[in-house]
Amino acid sequence: MKYNRILLKLSGEALMGRQQYGIDAERLMQYAEEVRAVAQLGVQVAVVIGGGNIFRGVQAEAFGLDRVQGDYMGMLATVINSMALQSALEKLGIPTRLLSGVTIQRVCEPYIRRRALRHLEKGRVVIFGAGIGSPYFTTDSAASLRAIEVEADVVLKGTRVDGIYTADPEKDPSATRFPQITFDEVMEKNLNVMDMTAFTLCKENNLPIIVFDMNKEGNLLKLVQGETVGTLVTMSGTPTPDADVEPSLAPDLKQASSTQAEQA
Ligand code: UDP
Repeated sequence: MKYNRILLKLSGEALMGRQQYGIDAERLMQYAEEVRAVAQLGVQVAVVIGGGNIFRGVQAEAFGLDRVQGDYMGMLATVINSMALQSALEKLGIPTRLLSGVTIQRVCEPYIRRRALRHLEKGRVVIFGAGIGSPYFTTDSAASLRAIEVEADVVLKGTRVDGIYTADPEKDPSATRFPQITFDEVMEKNLNVMDMTAFTLCKENNLPIIVFDMNKEGNLLKLVQGETVGTLVTMSGTPTPDADVEPSLAPDLKQASSTQAEQA
């Protein structure tokens, strides 16, 4: 397997399928089956789901509500989606745990990093609900943060588009897809991958992101098996971490580390 531990980010909107609101049962089962396929191979899977199919904090004003209250409503919406995915996975025989950033003790465990790690080590699919548990954040930020905390190898951002394009492919038919891109290029070109907080967290922690089409059957499996799917975002734009070191620098670095070892 290319990745041992992944963090899969799914948007709430994707769960709507062809509906206008809420959860599409068929789509939910499809996602659960995709997750099962990789979990059964021994890949440790953590999942963050958004809540946009139910409520987003930014909608609060339109309802005449307080923004912070709206954000908490959004967080609770993610817990509803997480519970649905948990149930779908368990129906398929996959052990799961739902850990929430907001304490809701009847239905989920509180988020405790060490507990999350233990669950992952035991092969349970860990679903992180309620984002990071604070208003003014998004579930993309939660995905980046939790991925860093549990030392995931990669953030897999499942969307309905098959990667990062030069422009929005749904609006501009001439848009082309990047197979790979660097964090810096994404920022220079002002491409919309994740919100800035989420993106910066990944960049600063050298955590690769892959944006891919989650609705295409088998894509998640292909990704963990190392096939090129979607767009890979890294420091250097190349797939292997070793390639992040410029070849011309590598011998010097080796020398520096062996000198340090000798001195020690
Ligand atoms: N939210 C929040 N803090 C978080 C995560 C989410 O306040 O850490 C709220 C926020 O209002 C957001 C909503 O929950 O709009 C639903 O999450 P998001 O918009 O990220 O869902 P998605 O767009 O992925 O469906």
